[in-house]
Amino acid sequence: MDYSIAPHVASVEVLFRKPFCVRRIFCVGRNYADHAREMGANPEREPPFFFTKPADAVVANHKAMPYPPATKNLHHEVELVVALASGGHDIPVDKANDHIFGYALGLDMTRRDLQSAAKEKGQPWDMGKGFDHSAPISAITPLSMIGILTAGPLQLSVNGAVRQKGDLSEMIWSVPEVISYLSGLVELAPGDLIYTGTPSGVGPVVKGDRLEAKFPGLETLSITIS
Ligand code: MN
Repeated sequence: MDYSIAPHVASVEVLFRKPFCVRRIFCVGRNYADHAREMGANPEREPPFFFTKPADAVVANHKAMPYPPATKNLHHEVELVVALASGGHDIPVDKANDHIFGYALGLDMTRRDLQSAAKEKGQPWDMGKGFDHSAPISAITPLSMIGILTAGPLQLSVNGAVRQKGDLSEMIWSVPEVISYLSGLVELAPGDLIYTGTPSGVGPVVKGDRLEAKFPGLETLSITIS
C-alpha cells in the first residue's frame, strides 16, 4: 500500500513519516444526534449523507486560517478525520478498517450563513462548506501507532473555553459503516480523507480566535483565525 502515489494537489503531515498526499476530502453530515438536533434535523438513523471539499482546502496544524470572504457567520465543527491507505468500491463493513492509514483531528469550517441560505433554497452546500482553507487538519497518526478508534472524548476549545464535547462512540454511523456506505457511492482511493461529523456545540469564530481540538493519542490541532 503506497499512499504517496495518489494524484494530489495537497499533502498532510504524518507523524514520523513522509507526508500523506491528499486525493479527495469527503465529509459526513449530521453524524452525532445532539448536533443533528441543534441544526433542527431529526437525528433518527437516516442513511449517511456526504459533501466534499477541495483537496487543497487543507490547512496544516499551527497555521493561520484566513477569515473567508462572503460570510458573517464562520462556524467551527471539530471532527475525527480518517485517512485512507487503500480504496475500493462496495467495501464490506467488516473489512473497512483494513483500508485506514491513520487518524487526525480536523475542523470542518463552515460559512453557516451561506449553508443555511442554500438549505432554504434547496441549493448545493459547496460554497458554504468547500471554500479555500476550510479544512484545517492535524498531523496524521498512523493506525500502527494508535490502533482502531471506536470511542474517546473529542473536544474543541476557542480561546481556552470548551465549546464542543462529544465521544466517538456517539456517532450515528461508525467509521467502518461510513467507509462502507461511501464506497457504495464512489470508488474510494488511497489519499482520500473522510471528516466523520461533528458533535454538538458548533458556533461562530472571529478574527484572532485560537481554536484547539483534542483527542487522546492524536496530535492536538491548534489553528488561529487571521
Ligand atoms: Mn461537519
